[in-house]
Amino acid sequence: MRILLCLLLFNLLVGCGSFEIKNGIYTQSEFIEYINSYLNDKEQYLGTKRVNFTIKMYFSDLKGTVLGTCFSETIKRPDKSTKIKKHIEIDLDFWNRSKDCEKKLVIYHELGHCDLEAEHIEEKLAIMNSDIGIVRYDFCRDDKKLIREFFNSAKDKN
Ligand SMILES: [Zn+2]
Repeated sequence: MRILLCLLLFNLLVGCGSFEIKNGIYTQSEFIEYINSYLNDKEQYLGTKRVNFTIKMYFSDLKGTVLGTCFSETIKRPDKSTKIKKHIEIDLDFWNRSKDCEKKLVIYHELGHCDLEAEHIEEKLAIMNSDIGIVRYDFCRDDKKLIREFFNSAKDKN
C-alpha cells in the first residue's frame, strides 16, 4: 500500500511532463519567466493577473514557418454543459534558435489570442501582427510602447 501511494504521488508530481500552474496557465518551466512578465504587464495595464480561460502551453513541432498557435477545445462535461479550454503550442525549433525578446514576443502574441481573444492587426507595427518578422526588430530594441498598445487595445475592446 505504501509503495502504491508513493507511485501515485510520484505520478502526480512529475508524471505529466512537469507542468506547473501559473494563474490558470498550465505550462512547462521554460515558459514561466515569459508568462510572469505577461501577467505583470497585464496587471499594470488591465488591473488583473487573472487569465480569462484555462490555458495549457507546451512545445510542439509546428509545420512550416508557424512559430506558435492558439486553439480552443470544447470539453463536454457529464452533465452536458461545456467548458472552453485553450491550447498554446510553441514550435520547439523556433524556441531553441531564438533570442529572449523573440520568445517573449511570440508568447505575448499567442496569449493575446488565447487570453485576450485578440485578432491579427496587419496594417501596422503591433504584437498582434501575424508576421513576427515585421515586429521583431522594434520589439527587441524597446518593447514598452508595443506592450502598452497591445494591452490598451484589449481594454478598448471591452
Ligand atoms: Zn497570430
